[in-house]
Amino acid sequence: MSRVYNFAAGPAVLPEPVLEKAARQMLEHEGHGMSVMEMSHRSKMFEDIIGDAESRLRSLMNVPENYKVLFLQGGASLQFSMVPLNLSSAEGAADYVCTGSWAKAAIKEGSRFTKVNVVGSSEDRNYSYVPVLDSSLFNKNADYFHITSNETIFGIRYTKFPDTGSVPLVADMSSNILSEVFDVSKFGLIYAGAQKNIGPAGLVVVIIREDLIGKAGASVPVMLNYKIHADNGSMYNTPPTFSIYIAQLVFEWLQGIGGVKEMQKINEHKAGLLYGFLDESKLFKGTANKKDRSLMNITFVLPNDELNDRFVKEAAAKGFVNLKGHRSVGGMRASIYNAMPVEGVKALVGFMKEFEAQNA
Ligand SMILES: *Cc1c(COP(=O)(O)O)cnc(C)c1O
Repeated sequence: MSRVYNFAAGPAVLPEPVLEKAARQMLEHEGHGMSVMEMSHRSKMFEDIIGDAESRLRSLMNVPENYKVLFLQGGASLQFSMVPLNLSSAEGAADYVCTGSWAKAAIKEGSRFTKVNVVGSSEDRNYSYVPVLDSSLFNKNADYFHITSNETIFGIRYTKFPDTGSVPLVADMSSNILSEVFDVSKFGLIYAGAQKNIGPAGLVVVIIREDLIGKAGASVPVMLNYKIHADNGSMYNTPPTFSIYIAQLVFEWLQGIGGVKEMQKINEHKAGLLYGFLDESKLFKGTANKKDRSLMNITFVLPNDELNDRFVKEAAAKGFVNLKGHRSVGGMRASIYNAMPVEGVKALVGFMKEFEAQNA
């Protein structure tokens, strides 16, 4: 067997101990005589799994008592509609910050269900920074205020969140949930597709303050209503059982490392290795504004496309795969989620140094 260093933006690398444990439990999960995939979601066996996954996540993120944790489907993209459908209405309004492709997608979809007011944008410099916000532009009567805590494509992140007063702050944390310590009590709602820092695709985690549940209009489909899912413990219908089980193992692994605080230190170290090299390099250049740089998605370019292509190709041949940047930024992107080991980043930097020496 030979595993590569996978720098994909998502679905992304998973912790090897998690994959190994899942492999050991594939045919028989903990004396149950069957795989998790074969279990009824109504069984005690599965109830233990989803209950344990939730309590581990609550503990990792220090989720306050008055928040529900939901395990849903439809990816982060469905939350672009569920958030306005549940928290607002055609007569209502919401503030959004436009920091990149994902924020833009959230704004576009949100605009179909509520009146969207964009209070800040970094489109003028191709989303290379997080805009400084002028709170006098915030709508004090907005139903919610939406941000994208980490823009996966452009490699930027909020290092400080806007103070929205009594307006609930809603964050798409798909690509940096569990990567650093966040104060959940500052948010009304957090959502994250699993396939970056939580587990396999097909699962989205929603953490929602209880007073925001139950506001959906009568025409909202049951499957899109947070109250239905909250009242049914995420089991109104069959949840993505196997994805929830892998998420449980990822949470267990993260607790074993020492939790989010320890993970944050490791992530700062990993990102520091790459950014440190980019800042010194005469050939490679980071594309994100220094103070807003992501810990998870590191975007960089070489002086021309020919070198970019050569780098991606030669890197892949050495086992560093999925480094090609998104077409809207060009160049390269190294996604170094929680599960990317420090050795993987060190090895990549070593290869970049070699490449620089040969091509300078
Ligand atoms: C990947 C990603 C999405 C889209 O997630 P899906 O699960 O594919 O819908 C949305 N927002 C951010 C920040 C992402 O990184």
